[in-house]
Amino acid sequence: MTELLRSTSPADPRDEIGHFPVADAAAVDAAVARARRALPAWRAAAFEERAKPLRRFRDLAAEGAEPLARLIAREMGKALWDARGEAALLPAKVDATLADGLRLVAPLEAGPGARTSVHPRGVLAVLGPFNFPAHLPNGHIVPALATGNTVVLKPSEETPGVAEWMAALWRRAGLPEGVLEIVHGAAETGRALALHPNVDGVLFTGSWAVGRALAEATLDQPGKILALELGGSNPVIVLDDADLELAVAETALSIAATTGQRCSCARRLFVHHAVIDSFSERLVRVLRGVRIGAPLEEGVFMGPLVSLRAADSLRRWRRATREAGGERILDADPALPPPFVGPGLVRYSDTRQRHPAQREEIFGPEAALYAIDDLEHAITAANDSDYGLVASVFTRDRARYERCVGRVATGLLNWNRGTIGASGRLPFGGLRRSGNHRPAGIFSTLYCSFHQAHLESAAGLDPAKLPPGMPRP
Ligand code: NAD
Repeated sequence: MTELLRSTSPADPRDEIGHFPVADAAAVDAAVARARRALPAWRAAAFEERAKPLRRFRDLAAEGAEPLARLIAREMGKALWDARGEAALLPAKVDATLADGLRLVAPLEAGPGARTSVHPRGVLAVLGPFNFPAHLPNGHIVPALATGNTVVLKPSEETPGVAEWMAALWRRAGLPEGVLEIVHGAAETGRALALHPNVDGVLFTGSWAVGRALAEATLDQPGKILALELGGSNPVIVLDDADLELAVAETALSIAATTGQRCSCARRLFVHHAVIDSFSERLVRVLRGVRIGAPLEEGVFMGPLVSLRAADSLRRWRRATREAGGERILDADPALPPPFVGPGLVRYSDTRQRHPAQREEIFGPEAALYAIDDLEHAITAANDSDYGLVASVFTRDRARYERCVGRVATGLLNWNRGTIGASGRLPFGGLRRSGNHRPAGIFSTLYCSFHQAHLESAAGLDPAKLPPGMPRP
């Protein structure tokens, strides 16, 4: 009998989203075979033929933004304002890909008789995380399809309903059969799909632990492209000349948006000692005041964490920050019924970051405060991390921010803006454990295709060009 995945709302376990069949190895094999069969026609299709269902998907996604936002809020627990923000990203991805994204993979003309042609990689597996259940799989699917690949999607086991909603939209958009397959399940299904010999690439967004496991497991399949978008432990630097009101507002938002479950959430705050007390007092006040509640209720800022397991993990990490020598300066509403949680802050007495609670990614509304002496101290402390996704610098002086550019070891570096949020027309990816240097965002088309180089000639043999000692045939 087929095992079923039961999806319920983290805000209310009685709110059932649906039951979804778990794909075993045979079901994964069948889905890959269907995607493989659909590949020749899809890759050979003219641009306009491929662009048609993509544009139709864009229009349907724009029309369906509100029902999608409500489904995201129910199934994953993010507040409605946040879910609406995510739903709005779907149509925008299509336009950005068809314009700028495809320009990045235009064939090269290198000179007379030297050029490239550009080709899809084949059948690509997309493994999605739970925190942006629509936008992040979509961020791989759209460029993969636009460049002529077929796709097998394995969404997070926490959010199968959102993925099915998107798959249905693609069918309505007229995507030919087999071009986008979907399989459900957790680690075992993901592994079977990623390691399948007929899968040419794995586009993965998720944790460092799973990304690492995938990199190790695919070592003997070097031809398989692996695009890893992983976690972060993102620093915010606040200098003594910063606009504190702005810095506090942006930092609070970066800590607590999506209940702290974004790869880009602010985790480590390096604040100049002259302003740290005032900064932290204001930050505590803002975080203590955020409205926590049912995700579908208008006006709520923070919904629950995605699961009881996530809430338990956050509780353990918070305890560990004490073992690490931190002083808890905020534990808002500890009495909330899990998986609802309040924001938390810990302050350390120096910038040595040795304990796992200071180095690992804690996936919840939780951040650590450190006092810094000057900009150089802040850069060194910010770079003392195993991750390298996003950093923010708050200062009124552009020159001080410019000193961080290229020296803070992150894929994204923001000035007087928080760590969350990103432009769809820029690359998005991290250094170190945050990824494997195959940025997504507008650069996704790059890992979905490859250039074949050609030296070409229509002329016959020119004997004058034969090297000395080489006889003419
Ligand atoms: P996760 O790593 O637990 O799971 C991601 C996906 O991998 C899921 O579909 C899961 O079922 C699957 N999976 C789990 N074990 C697997 C295995 N052994 N083999 C193959 N597949 C497996 O991540 P999550 O908890 O869903 O998402 C949160 C994580 O994602 C955080 O670390 C966050 O920082 C990261 N993230 C990164 C980005 C980015 O763009 N860099 C964006 C969003 C989230």
